[in-house]
Amino acid sequence: MTLLQIENLAVTFRTNDGPVNAVNGVSFGVDKGETLAIVGESGSGKSQTAFAVMGLLAKNGAATGSAKFDGQELLGMGQSQLNRIRSKDMAMIFQDPMTSLNPYLRVSEQMAEVLMLHKGLGKSAAITEAARMLDAVRIPDARARITMFPHEFSGGMRQRIMIAMSLLCQPRLLIADEPTTALDVTVQAQIMALLGDIRAEFGTAVILITHDLGIVAGFCDRTLVMYGGQIMEEGPTTDIFADPSHPYTSGLLKAVPRLDQEQGELATIAGEPPDMSHLPPGCPFSPRCAQQMDNCRTERPALEAKANRRRACHLPVSEVA
Ligand code: SF4
Repeated sequence: MTLLQIENLAVTFRTNDGPVNAVNGVSFGVDKGETLAIVGESGSGKSQTAFAVMGLLAKNGAATGSAKFDGQELLGMGQSQLNRIRSKDMAMIFQDPMTSLNPYLRVSEQMAEVLMLHKGLGKSAAITEAARMLDAVRIPDARARITMFPHEFSGGMRQRIMIAMSLLCQPRLLIADEPTTALDVTVQAQIMALLGDIRAEFGTAVILITHDLGIVAGFCDRTLVMYGGQIMEEGPTTDIFADPSHPYTSGLLKAVPRLDQEQGELATIAGEPPDMSHLPPGCPFSPRCAQQMDNCRTERPALEAKANRRRACHLPVSEVA
């Protein structure tokens, strides 16, 4: 059953150099309890899609289209109603937990405040519940350490605290924006395993936003690949990894180390991500695509659905290298 439905979402920023179209008409849904990866290089529009859903766009940004959470339209919703949904039903975690944690308040105060405000708990019950949640995200000795300040924890532990805070009101949707980018590989794997456990335990739907396709395998049910503010490809993660149907996805996958295949030197996609204020008229990936054809620079490929996949590319699937 669909929890979040995005239709024709566009995000535009007013700048001194004119409008910048960061997201250009994306449509997708997320089912209850599902995990969806939104993947792409920086500037692909993946984070701005999430910010638009959460009502967190910068002041010079505006979103059009539709984003419905459990049937309720989020775009244009009043601030107080949006705050209620954000605190109870949808939560977001970021790459740097220190942007969300108050460095001057003990973890216990920050977490208890959320529970007292939104669940009406007394202070002592709130701290007990907060410690239980820290325990759930495997912070050792949570009852004693809850009174520490954020800077007294390591980066990985701070990310766990952030995840625990986001789960206090048991949201139905958790959006994780590059949650492991700042962490070393071992801690990265631990945080991804933790997110998987949380999904299983609480039935929370998760949108994972990442530039790293490598962390998506084994965690996300479905993967949506974005470039130039548009969807390039979408499908079940296992199918996309086994058989990418878009040159951009194929390029991203060639940059991921694989343990199951013999690989030479890892490939990178030549060129730079697009200037969003001057996108080419045809396929946004055309300036970097090794397989571009004559019509790629002039005709924007439509996003077409076939079976359980969607793709936007003029090239026949069988010819994608
Ligand atoms: Fe490459 Fe053309 Fe497909 Fe774009 S439409 S990805 S340029 S082949």
